[in-house]
Amino acid sequence: FRHGEPSDISVTTPEGPVLFGEHQPVVTIAGPCSVESEEMIVETALRVKAAGAKFLRGGAYKPRTSPYAFQGHGESALGLLASAREQSGLGIITEVMDADDIEKIAEVADVLQVGARNMQNFALLKKIGAQDKPVLLKRGISATIEEWLMAAEYILAAGNPNVILCERGIRTFDRRYTRNTLDLSVLPVLRTLTHLPITIDPSHGTGWAPLVPAMAKAAIAGGTDALMIEVHPNPQKALSDGAQSLTPKEFETLMGELAVIGNAV
Ligand code: PEP
Ligand code: MN
Repeated sequence: FRHGEPSDISVTTPEGPVLFGEHQPVVTIAGPCSVESEEMIVETALRVKAAGAKFLRGGAYKPRTSPYAFQGHGESALGLLASAREQSGLGIITEVMDADDIEKIAEVADVLQVGARNMQNFALLKKIGAQDKPVLLKRGISATIEEWLMAAEYILAAGNPNVILCERGIRTFDRRYTRNTLDLSVLPVLRTLTHLPITIDPSHGTGWAPLVPAMAKAAIAGGTDALMIEVHPNPQKALSDGAQSLTPKEFETLMGELAVIGNAV
């Protein structure tokens, strides 16, 4: 890998382009793990927008460990994301699990997410690389930094230069107090290895909402370009990842604290 100048990646949103990059304000992506209903996704969108988020996240297709767990509402959830996009003005980030769904997801999404479990799904990476929506590439659960960068390279080599990396925690020996171990050392390491922008996801990175604010602040101190934070209007009732989701109020408080530390929002 050659380290050129850090790249800015410009992503279209209904309210104009948003730039991800080392010399840009920190971009915040927020929203529920899964899109559950129109009411909850629109409410969440409006609340996170008011707090300063630029993108709404929310899964229509969910990569769940158990086949018996909620799998996402699929295509109908894409319609709800489109409605939230229109009503809030936020850009949309949602996960693609199956290459056959790329086209219909790209009609709604401003950024396509490749989840941790698909980081080395090379067939999917090649197809995502052959279309032109920007891509958020999450680090695999047990992926080395080199494997992660090679996965990004698949997308770049297929013709799509707009890849944003997302650290979401890796599996280590100690899972008693955290779901994953958030590897913030990727921030300085990736700066020497790649020009691509970096996002930190402290929600999946810790698995527990009370730990999210400190890790979000640490990520800004470490120089992250963006944050991805799970927010749910009623975390206790969430169909997925409730334990790690902030309420809209907690998110608003966090955004206020982040604005003091760094150049967030
Ligand atoms: C998610 O963003 O909800 C998700 C499933 O993330 P990851 O792929 O990092 O587990
Ligand atoms: Mn989740």
